[in-house]
Amino acid sequence: AALALPAAVYMLQEEVHAAELERTFIAIKPDGVQRGLIAEIISRFERKGYKLVAIKLVVPSNEFAQQHYHDLKERPFFSGLCDFMSSGPVLAMVWEGEGVIKYGRKLIGATDPQKSEPGTIRGDLAVVVGRNIIHGSDGPETAKDEIALWFSPTELISYANNAEKWIYG
Ligand code: ADP
Repeated sequence: AALALPAAVYMLQEEVHAAELERTFIAIKPDGVQRGLIAEIISRFERKGYKLVAIKLVVPSNEFAQQHYHDLKERPFFSGLCDFMSSGPVLAMVWEGEGVIKYGRKLIGATDPQKSEPGTIRGDLAVVVGRNIIHGSDGPETAKDEIALWFSPTELISYANNAEKWIYG
């Protein structure tokens, strides 16, 4: 009952743009956190017009990192990658908006920063593939699975953002 919202807030939530339906999992890896790039990276998603609906700083266990990257378990870099991902704080986030899964990957740039275009997060801020500072879900299924792995449903916040009528028209 303490969390009950006034009726006006429910009305606003009903008007939330259909873009609410698309969400992606974005994580700033330990290198991005240590290098002080949290604000820079969040700013790029925020200024684009996407909405932050969940965020937390966590140090994943090695087992958790292995679960997150389970698709890559046959790759030679898998164990180094999981050691790295569990080596320090990771900023886990869920971003929402129209086309956010695909466009989020565009904002991030190619996996190897040597191949990422200037203007992208990895292109502007990273140099090597093993320290490419950010993760983003690569498709709708992965996004759904990764959000469920990193966040409980109550950590995902649906809310009306009054700028949406200016972002979506
Ligand atoms: P992305 O993160 O762009 O979705 P992948 O899913 O292919 O890319 O790989 C996951 C992560 O594994 C990369 O972001 C990178 O940190 C790491 N990685 C990929 N390829 C290599 C490699 N050849 N050497 C070391 N690390 C790699």
